[in-house]
Amino acid sequence: MNKDTMCVQGAYEPKSGDPRVLPLMQSTTYYYESLEEMAHLFDVPKDGHIYSRISNPTVECYEKKIAMLEGGTACMAVSSGMAATLNTVLNVCKAGDNIVSMSTIYGGSYNLFKSTLPKLGITCRFVNDDMTDEEIKANIDENTKLFFGETIANPAMVVFDFDRISKICKEEKLLLVVDNTLATPILVRPFEHGANIVVHSTTKYMDGHATAVGGAIVDGGNFEYRDNPRYVDFVTPDESYHGINYVDEGEGGLYSFVLKARMQGMRDYGTSVSPFNAYITNLGMETLHLRMERHSSNALALAKELEKHPMVAWVNYAGLESNKYHERAVKYFKGGFSGMVVFGIKGGRENAEKFINNLHLFKNVTHIADVRSCVLHPASTTHRQLSSEDLVKAGIDEGLVRLSVGIEDEKDIIEDIIGALNNI
Ligand SMILES: *Cc1c(COP(=O)(O)O)cnc(C)c1O
Repeated sequence: MNKDTMCVQGAYEPKSGDPRVLPLMQSTTYYYESLEEMAHLFDVPKDGHIYSRISNPTVECYEKKIAMLEGGTACMAVSSGMAATLNTVLNVCKAGDNIVSMSTIYGGSYNLFKSTLPKLGITCRFVNDDMTDEEIKANIDENTKLFFGETIANPAMVVFDFDRISKICKEEKLLLVVDNTLATPILVRPFEHGANIVVHSTTKYMDGHATAVGGAIVDGGNFEYRDNPRYVDFVTPDESYHGINYVDEGEGGLYSFVLKARMQGMRDYGTSVSPFNAYITNLGMETLHLRMERHSSNALALAKELEKHPMVAWVNYAGLESNKYHERAVKYFKGGFSGMVVFGIKGGRENAEKFINNLHLFKNVTHIADVRSCVLHPASTTHRQLSSEDLVKAGIDEGLVRLSVGIEDEKDIIEDIIGALNNI
């Protein structure tokens, strides 16, 4: 199956007389005739469903579709994108450990790494794209458990340097985790470029309709945990599961990461997705390939128009030839550069506010990546606590506007934006 077919038909194969559409199994529990059957599942949860905190048949199909699309070996769906990142870190880190992360990541992930995880004794060293290999490597020590980055950073729009960073991680025998939310596997498949684990906020393009918060962790099945002192937990017996070890149980590491995250993390932290949210996100994913094509073509057409407008100071979109990351984006992206466009309005905050008030189609919301076009002015919303000076430090211009370009008609989109600029 190619990716487009996977979106529509992947993972759910009805038998004769079954519902044609993946059914919603809104049940917390599962019946077993014999006590032995149930006892076996408590030892080996991967063999069946016991309780919907750990697994559910609707969720399972949805997970398989995400794993297929990413070209991974297994997936665990969770309650949100934040839960995906949290569970991923906690699957390998304990107090005293650290992670290394790009500094240009989603604000929520930044807060988790900068403020919250340190309270659990897990620290983060932030690095950036302008550093040399040596400067990046200097942050990695024997307690470093993973490297974290985003395929395309929100809203800094830095495209992840897969070849360079994955080479460093291979040399250091370090897990590379990539947040692929904004690109989706339709445009970029991080496992093909050296990532070991992919995380998603399915809340964005995968759902695509702004109806369900959710997240996912995908296992690349391409990491060697054996003979690696960083990951002894994967090869030593887990006493809370009768002494199994996750490398052997996950077929030599093929799906050990997700298996461990489910058997320990999901059992103990309980950040599961509801079957209903899995059901509607799966429906959304049936059109993911078509939507990403349209989001990308609309965004590129709009970015080109913005570049020409006299009220526009700069445009940041990886699809533009003038963009700092264009060459890198062309190397990794196939079929488009996704739907987020960031640009600066001349005249700062005052004109940015006028512009947003002039819009009709683009609605002012704190969201990205659904079918409807929307706009956000970080300086007066998500970053409003910062002073003008701090905004500069955070790389946020007072005239910076973030657009999430929807799948409406291209001409209508351009007319709304250009009209609002003209009317400032
Ligand atoms: C929104 C987002 C998240 C967080 O996801 P939630 O589903 O809101 O918890 C993580 N990473 C990126 C890139 C995002 O855009």
